[in-house]
Amino acid sequence: MKQGITRREREVTDPAAILGILDRAKIVHVGMVDNGEPYIVPMNYGYTMENGKLTLYLHGAKEGRKLDILRVNPKVFVEIDTDLVPFEGKTACHYGIGYSSIMGRGIAELVEDTEGKKKGLSVLMKTQTGKDFEFDDRMVSVVTVIKITVSDYTAKHRPVPQKG
Ligand SMILES: Cc1cc2nc3c(=O)[nH]c(=O)nc-3n(C[C@H](O)[C@H](O)[C@H](O)COP(=O)(O)OP(=O)(O)OC[C@H]3O[C@@H](n4cnc5c(N)ncnc54)[C@H](O)[C@@H]3O)c2cc1C
Repeated sequence: MKQGITRREREVTDPAAILGILDRAKIVHVGMVDNGEPYIVPMNYGYTMENGKLTLYLHGAKEGRKLDILRVNPKVFVEIDTDLVPFEGKTACHYGIGYSSIMGRGIAELVEDTEGKKKGLSVLMKTQTGKDFEFDDRMVSVVTVIKITVSDYTAKHRPVPQKG
């Protein structure tokens, strides 16, 4: 079930601001369901945003628990955060952290074709480094590339309170 953000005033809807979060964050926490049990893995990502459609590309080893899970249940929930600025207050309740974040639902697929893997790795490296990289067949053969099509997402920004 899709649910709106509780603190609506903190919702980010400006497409440029959402791209800024995706550019700065670098790490996605991928939530999965392993036979009814939650499992979360932090990973580096690359992204594309086409007509408001967000796609994430991840890469990793060719075996492991997350792959075992995704082959059975490709449904994921992703969380990305950045701009973390802890702040202090007069009482414990006034301490907090400024942040920008994105959360959303998606479907993960393991990219099997070589050209698709090359594209995914190029996108990943562009997001991570800002640079263009090319990959040959051997390089892509030793990694798994995961594509997450994010069906819906929300973004949120908690500013640091002004002093005084
Ligand atoms: C900041 C950051 C960025 C990362 N980026 C990538 C990436 O881009 N690609 C990538 O493949 N991996 C990345 N990792 C590592 C990733 O989190 C997993 O460890 C890795 O992907 C293996 O996952 P798996 O499910 O196959 O693990 P397995 O090795 O199959 O997991 C077996 C068990 O090991 C434990 N475990 C697994 N991973 C971790 C962990 N990170 N910390 C503590 N315990 C763990 C869990 O209990 C898990 O049940 C990153 C980790 C961090 C912290």
